Amino acid sequence: MKKTNIVIIGSGMAGMSAAIYLKRANADFVMLEGNMAGGTLNQLKSVENYPAMPKTTGPEILMALMDQLRFNNIPVVYGNVQTILKEEDGFEVVTDVESYETKAVIVATGVATSSNSIPGEEKFAGQGVSYCATCDGNFFKGADIAVVGNNNIAIEEAIYLANIVNKVYFICPDESLLGDIKLIEKINEYQNVELVLNTQVQEILGDDFGVTGIKVNEKVINVMGVFPYVGKKTTSQILNNLKPEKQGIFLKVNEDMQTNIPGLYAAGDVVAKKLKQLVTAAGDGAAAATSADNYVKLLK
Ligand SMILES: Cc1cc2nc3c(=O)[nH]c(=O)nc-3n(C[C@H](O)[C@H](O)[C@H](O)COP(=O)(O)OP(=O)(O)OC[C@H]3O[C@@H](n4cnc5c(N)ncnc54)[C@H](O)[C@@H]3O)c2cc1C
Repeated sequence: MKKTNIVIIGSGMAGMSAAIYLKRANADFVMLEGNMAGGTLNQLKSVENYPAMPKTTGPEILMALMDQLRFNNIPVVYGNVQTILKEEDGFEVVTDVESYETKAVIVATGVATSSNSIPGEEKFAGQGVSYCATCDGNFFKGADIAVVGNNNIAIEEAIYLANIVNKVYFICPDESLLGDIKLIEKINEYQNVELVLNTQVQEILGDDFGVTGIKVNEKVINVMGVFPYVGKKTTSQILNNLKPEKQGIFLKVNEDMQTNIPGLYAAGDVVAKKLKQLVTAAGDGAAAATSADNYVKLLK
């Protein structure tokens, strides 16, 4: 078991901001990431509301952040957190590779598109079912694919994919598209995007090699890939032992970003708040880091 004063879980905008603030406070900490450094930043094709960067992208912001981490000598440590246990004088954070004994934890795990809501989705995850067009879009070059959902992310991902694949079936459960008006106007310009409104995907079909189609309205549409963006989930199972107070699926925090459990902080999209954006994730991370650092110092 490794020992540290503060564990940050997640390396998205919230986690990285917390790490930068902790480093500058000369704190002893580890930032854990179970998937891709940068989190949602990897997926943002266009960002026009981040202060001081009038027109940028998530990967561009991420590159600048990675430079800042390198400059400050902050590693992103691999570790997919499985659970957090309450110990007498802190917590044990258990990952798939290592356990950490720590005095405080900052949960910055964001939200993820929920999986398993469509029959066949889990079975073909990674075999034609993907949640990231930027990461996997090229595997479907020239093929027909389906995007499922009705929100900004689904529309953005469909637009991105329409530039790579032969045809996008956009399967929307509602009568009309819900999202940013500019995005809706843009998707309507694409000749190779077919909007299938008022429709649920009954099943994702496939064989030993992966996805072969989707079943909608009792008919089969042949596609090689499916990108579902339906619903949201947080990695709340890692908090099952601690049971912090929540509002829906999100963590309740006070103005210091502390949950109702002393030493347990949260930042970014995982927090119950109205505005879930990069600028608020960065602010949350900075505030959580400062509060966690003060908390640890007062324990001594
Ligand atoms: C399509 C789309 C467009 C958007 N456009 C904008 C925009 O234009 N402007 C703007 O300001 N905001 C935008 N946002 C919102 C913004 O991206 C988010 O508010 C922000 O990225 C949240 O950052 P985060 O650090 O809280 O979470 P995330 O970026 O989701 O990071 C969480 C990290 O935690 C990791 N993690 C999760 N569970 C574990 C675990 N158990 N163990 C270890 N690691 C774990 C994940 O792998 C991930 O890397 C957009 C979001 C979407 C989806």
